[in-house]
Amino acid sequence: MFEPGSVDFSFDTQFQRSYGELVSRVIEQQAELADHQLNEQLLKALIREFVESERQLAEAHRQLLTISRTDALTGIANRRWFDEVLTAEWSRAVRSGGVIGLLLMDIDSFKLFNDNYGHPAGDDCLRKVAQTVSGVMHRSPDLAARYGGEELVCVLPETNLAGVDKVGHEILEAVRALRLPHAFSKVPDGIVTVSIGGASLSPTPGSDPGALLKQADAMLYQSKENGRNRLTL
Ligand code: GH3
Ligand code: MG
Ligand code: MG
Repeated sequence: MFEPGSVDFSFDTQFQRSYGELVSRVIEQQAELADHQLNEQLLKALIREFVESERQLAEAHRQLLTISRTDALTGIANRRWFDEVLTAEWSRAVRSGGVIGLLLMDIDSFKLFNDNYGHPAGDDCLRKVAQTVSGVMHRSPDLAARYGGEELVCVLPETNLAGVDKVGHEILEAVRALRLPHAFSKVPDGIVTVSIGGASLSPTPGSDPGALLKQADAMLYQSKENGRNRLTL
């Protein structure tokens, strides 16, 4: 994860100054040269400067892209990145006739956690749960993201309902295994837990990913209704 403060934009102005100086020196010397030979040394320096600044620009661009896709609190993917990945995977599945799985999850009794342990402890808890969920993703196209508030989402390309079930149970277990104390949860175990809704479908041409999110959301609602700390597909 990149901190916004770590991006160095100063190369841009430095580059413009030294580039400008070199250009004016080339022009000056060029005018002085009786035989109109190009000043090779200065031209080489100009080219080196240009190549180095291109490299720095590419690196700054890469860092900015990472920041724009990262949730500042949890360090996992943000909603913007999730939306982009889901849209791209949806189109791919339409073309290939494949399936997409999705898991939507919500921390149980999180308001009570904040109310009793304080907001900074709530932030810390959210960060640990998000990192844990992200750590469960095994395949490279799988993505865990912060959907909003204390809700997280996982896109699982090319994953049928059996696969969604497997990953969902791994997440439930991994969060429980953190054993983060939550004495005020409506779940009687006294630890932080999540409720999850999962779905998998084969997108048809002209459809949009909203259908998949809606199904997972309805399943998450069922998990909450049936006592939390569980997965419903
Ligand atoms: P349920 O088990 O039904 O999900 O109950 P809940 O208390 O988790 O749900 P509710 O929607 O009532 O409350 C969500 C809480 O999540 C309230 C809000 O303050 C907290 N929350 C959302 N985002 C953050 C955050 O970034 N940091 C902290 N500390 N708390 C957050
Ligand atoms: Mg919620
Ligand atoms: Mg909640």
